[in-house]
Amino acid sequence: MTALSGGAEGPRALRPLLETVLDALAEGAARRGGPLPVGTPKELADLVAQTLADLDTSAGTGEPGADAEPLHRLTALLAQGSTDPADPFCAAHLHCPPLSLAVAADLAASALNPSQDSWDQAPAATALETLLIRDLADLVGYDPDTATGVLTSGGTESNLMGLMLARDCALTRAAGRPTELHGLPSGPVPRIFASAAAHFSVQRAAALLGLGEQAVVTVPVDRDLRMDADALAAALHRCTAAGETPVAIVATAGTTDTGAVDPLHRAADLAAEHGAWLHVDAAYGGGALLSDRLAPLLDGVSRADSVSLDWHKLGWQPAAAGVFLARHAESYAPLARRAVYLNPADDEEAGYPSLLGLSLRTTRRPDAFKIAVTLRTLGRAGLGRLVDACHALAHHAAATVDAHPLLELHTAPVLTTAVFHYLPQRPELRDPAARDTVNAALRRRLLREGRAVVGRTELPGQGPGRIRLKLTLLNPHTTPADVERLLHAVAAAGQAEEAEA
Ligand SMILES: *Cc1c(COP(=O)(O)O)cnc(C)c1O
Repeated sequence: MTALSGGAEGPRALRPLLETVLDALAEGAARRGGPLPVGTPKELADLVAQTLADLDTSAGTGEPGADAEPLHRLTALLAQGSTDPADPFCAAHLHCPPLSLAVAADLAASALNPSQDSWDQAPAATALETLLIRDLADLVGYDPDTATGVLTSGGTESNLMGLMLARDCALTRAAGRPTELHGLPSGPVPRIFASAAAHFSVQRAAALLGLGEQAVVTVPVDRDLRMDADALAAALHRCTAAGETPVAIVATAGTTDTGAVDPLHRAADLAAEHGAWLHVDAAYGGGALLSDRLAPLLDGVSRADSVSLDWHKLGWQPAAAGVFLARHAESYAPLARRAVYLNPADDEEAGYPSLLGLSLRTTRRPDAFKIAVTLRTLGRAGLGRLVDACHALAHHAAATVDAHPLLELHTAPVLTTAVFHYLPQRPELRDPAARDTVNAALRRRLLREGRAVVGRTELPGQGPGRIRLKLTLLNPHTTPADVERLLHAVAAAGQAEEAEA
């Protein structure tokens, strides 16, 4: 059990272990028998604790022998105790079912363990990430010769990077010369503009960057949760009139809840007018670029200074598969780093490239690999068909909700989500606060019974009546009939809650 995964012998050591893992995955999934484990969090935690305790005694010889029992039992436990996004009734989050192809590719990455922080830890993977970034720059409409980017842990890190470059660009301009890295701005009050439906990582990034969460100006949204461009214009004017510095506009292309796409051209015009950086958070909506039908939704994204994409959402990759792109490679200068043991200047001069200065991380998995394998296998068109299939499911969900007497749709789907609520029938449960309670409780009932994983969110604003349920449809093999059954299960859970209320 101390055999290594690399070298010519590695695969031989891995093969029986993979058999064990695959058998245990099947066994655990069969034991679960649905989208998630039945029961309460406490019951599941007890099962985990019990399994760990059992193994502690049975494996207590201390001999690193040939015992695959912990691998088998813990893998089966993990599978039994997982929510499985490959189950059509698991449709809450931007939590995609990974393609088996991508998982197999990721196994190769794990086995070889390249690390992207220096060429001598990742010779081919360095070249491959560089070429993949060119392909993705092209996908968003950047010139691959002048753009750059890096694989990230996801939208959270990508948004942080976008706002970091925005901050340093504003600092450079304020100082009238290139700054070293990351001084806090003195003088002008920095402002970042993002909609009320933008991802919470924007506020976190502002805090981490030393600008403070209060630097983020929340721009109102319309009913579809799109940023109100006139309100953005007004907020920017107030900012500059007050002598504050508009550091960045964050436009969301595909809000987490409704998939709404902010008006990208208006945002780009306003960014240019006010000298602000435009970061487009396309962590979810970037997937639309894969589909000929949906790509026009993101028209204008190429005008952004930086973009976040997440291939672990509409890209069917196992996490993590985040991407950060910057339109101009020069804007990356503040992140450049020379670490004498990773990218010495003479190595670079001798033709050994380094990705170190592109990432906030040092050790970094070759997450580009699985994406490259997927793109080369399915092509943009093949992935686009998966996006279109999920989009069609969302429309089917919306139509089913519309036709259902106990369900009410919020707005028409944009990408692959449908947002709605259950309408209680008992008169005393119809006021907004009671309706919220029933909707929240019916979702937990579905979880407890192991029946379904549906999303729950709240619309921006104040007061009761804002709780909504959502289906985030990322499984291209889900059928329209599955979606109907899921929505009927939601309505039935609502009725069960009413009966017990
Ligand atoms: C998911 C999401 C994020 C966060 O991405 P992670 O990959 O979870 O870090 C950011 N923005 C939007 C719009 C998202 O949907």
